[in-house]
Amino acid sequence: MNCRCNEELEYFVKEAKKVTKKGKVASYIPALAEASGDDLSAAVYYGDGTCLYAGDVKKVFTLQSISKVLSLALVLMDHGPNKVFQYVGKEPTGDPFNSIIKLETDNPGKPLNPMINAGALVVTSMIKGTSSADKIEYLLNFVRTLANDQSISICQRVSESEFETSMINRSMCYYMKEYEIFRGEVEEVIDIYTKQCAIQMNSLDLAKIGSVFALNGKHPETGKQIIPTDIARICKTFMVTCGMYNASGEFAIKIGIPAKSGVSGGIMGLSPNQFGIGIFGPALNEKGNSIAGIRLLELLSANYNLSIF
Ligand code: GLU
Repeated sequence: MNCRCNEELEYFVKEAKKVTKKGKVASYIPALAEASGDDLSAAVYYGDGTCLYAGDVKKVFTLQSISKVLSLALVLMDHGPNKVFQYVGKEPTGDPFNSIIKLETDNPGKPLNPMINAGALVVTSMIKGTSSADKIEYLLNFVRTLANDQSISICQRVSESEFETSMINRSMCYYMKEYEIFRGEVEEVIDIYTKQCAIQMNSLDLAKIGSVFALNGKHPETGKQIIPTDIARICKTFMVTCGMYNASGEFAIKIGIPAKSGVSGGIMGLSPNQFGIGIFGPALNEKGNSIAGIRLLELLSANYNLSIF
């Protein structure tokens, strides 16, 4: 990887860092509460394989909800969009990521989209394999291929911490099981899902994965088509419409790029046909997005005209 620290990016990171004090590190998954709130790092990975970074980009964090884009890509590749969208919808919700309410009021049992927990749990239940270990290994290998980094691993402590506390996620699985939308074994899927969310990497790897989506599924380092173009397109569209929780509309107006965030404070973004962005800033705003990460993207978008709209 041809990576170097970049002064301009460092300046924007320093600017954005000023807002970390106004955010709060997630604590509902106990192990996440240990992150240090004033961290902020960012990397930009270009289609030609060069990359720029600022901040402590070696710091490793768990993907949390960012993993939803990756499991979706894999499941769409294996089952095809028609089958997947029988069980999960394509519409934004306007509700928090773990909200259960629309499962009852809107098309009972069918989650509105794969970026909310209910939809992601259905997607995870469709990962191929003969055992839960097999399925998570399959997903992990796909993520390793996307990052072209075999060392990517799962943070056991974070996955166990979430597994013990995931009662709302379990509730949603049982609710959807009643409607035969969710067809897996609840404990097995919660096991895979919590491990999927605990896949850990640094912002350089995350930026590189973002660049695969930016290049319509083609890997900038290996030149291989990892994800078919039409599936990369579907994933990017979900990132635009539902990627930033119930702040996706505001994000689209203010920043205007496909992006997906997670409660660990990670954000994977991209500029189509140009580069991927990986950010880690664990202090979150009230909607659950990295507060300094959003500020940084606002600065980058305004300065480099990144909005796709
Ligand atoms: N593992 C987290 C959960 O299901 C992911 C949430 C997120 O990052 O939005 O609660």
